[in-house]
Amino acid sequence: MQSKKRNTKSAKIRKRDKKVTSPSLTREYEMVFERAKGMYIWDADNNKYLDFCASIAVSNIGHSNPDVIKAVTKQIKKGIHVGFADFYAELPVTFLETLFTLTPKKYNTGFLSNSGTEAVEAAYKCARWHTNKKYTIAFEKAFHGRTMGALSMTNSQKVQRERFAPFLPVKHTPYAYCYRCKFGKEKGDCSFECLEAVETKMRSVKKDLASVFVEAVQGEGGYIVPPKKFITGLRKLCNEYDALLCTDEVQSGAFRTGKFLAMEHFNTTADIVALSKAIGGGVPLGVTIANRKIMNWKPGSHANTFGGNLLACAGGIASLNYMKKKKLGKNSEKIGKYMLKELNEMKNENECIGDVRGLGLMIGVEIVKDKKSKKTNRKERTKILCRAYDRGLLLLPAGENVVRFAPPLIITKEQADKGLKIFENSLPKK
Ligand code: PLP
Repeated sequence: MQSKKRNTKSAKIRKRDKKVTSPSLTREYEMVFERAKGMYIWDADNNKYLDFCASIAVSNIGHSNPDVIKAVTKQIKKGIHVGFADFYAELPVTFLETLFTLTPKKYNTGFLSNSGTEAVEAAYKCARWHTNKKYTIAFEKAFHGRTMGALSMTNSQKVQRERFAPFLPVKHTPYAYCYRCKFGKEKGDCSFECLEAVETKMRSVKKDLASVFVEAVQGEGGYIVPPKKFITGLRKLCNEYDALLCTDEVQSGAFRTGKFLAMEHFNTTADIVALSKAIGGGVPLGVTIANRKIMNWKPGSHANTFGGNLLACAGGIASLNYMKKKKLGKNSEKIGKYMLKELNEMKNENECIGDVRGLGLMIGVEIVKDKKSKKTNRKERTKILCRAYDRGLLLLPAGENVVRFAPPLIITKEQADKGLKIFENSLPKK
């Protein structure tokens, strides 16, 4: 995405970057990060941006959070790393104990890693180990990461899978994407054909089905909130077919949707949960949690070098405690509701907004050619993001034509208003 800005210091860094960085990365903006604090990011030329993407749902507690800085600085003087797979240490244990005060009671055992894809990979392997079965069902448009296990379930964009086959035995089926129902139905007027499709897939591998992997709110696919019955229906089907239900809460977790886990909105729980992104307060940290009866793999079956890293765990504990102390779940719910209302009003007045949906501060706005045809308008979406960037607002895309709203959860109503105004002014002229 090229904006009007041509800043010399940033341009020089970008030029150097082009020479040494893998070209597989997709940069949405030309923005070159220099520093960040709270809700704001400054680029290398000292331009200030209001952050409405939290570095993809990572900076839930705000950038450069003082509690995280204090905890990491304190730990760095004592020791940076211990091989937690070989030795014991208190911080990783405290991190897991703190995490389990925030999650439903059934979760009491965790595997620590460094990223979302590793947390998913561990969940996938744990499900296969526990059940000693082979198949997994995942969803169209799902994004679970890019290592081969996670990538086998990822189905978000063609480019992510191209040339990487063969994959692990995963069967994909439509998600409950009601605005664009694969079965031609309207929201609230269907027989949950999407659940029937899951069951059909389940029947086809009945005796060998290890797990179903689902994002409780689909992230990269376009911030899609499914109806409650879809998630509870999956739980029921997994029970019937003796498969484990695994949720990927890498993006939707850590109070992003108002509750610590997005699954809590649906009054049900998964057997295994993958978390990452915001739980480290900006320090790389992933974790896979389950009940010990499920996470019962034997020593040596799964481990890593950096899981339980002391700086990551120090950052993680401070981050979780900050979320609790500041009741960020409540703020996410409150400001999220307000933003949804405002965005819905914009939808009523703008032909290019086809759908507005969200839970807490995980909100997606679909940009379309017109409301009737619902034809996706990727070009206009890019233009909107670009205009917003030029006006000092950082937004990111999701899916084919969605603008994602995922600000840090510390956002105030005034900051929400400021960002929404910029967004509204960035829409095409009526
Ligand atoms: N799962 C979900 C739902 C995600 O949104 C992402 C990243 O965006 C991942 C997994 C992969 O995380 P990572 O990029 O840290 O490997």
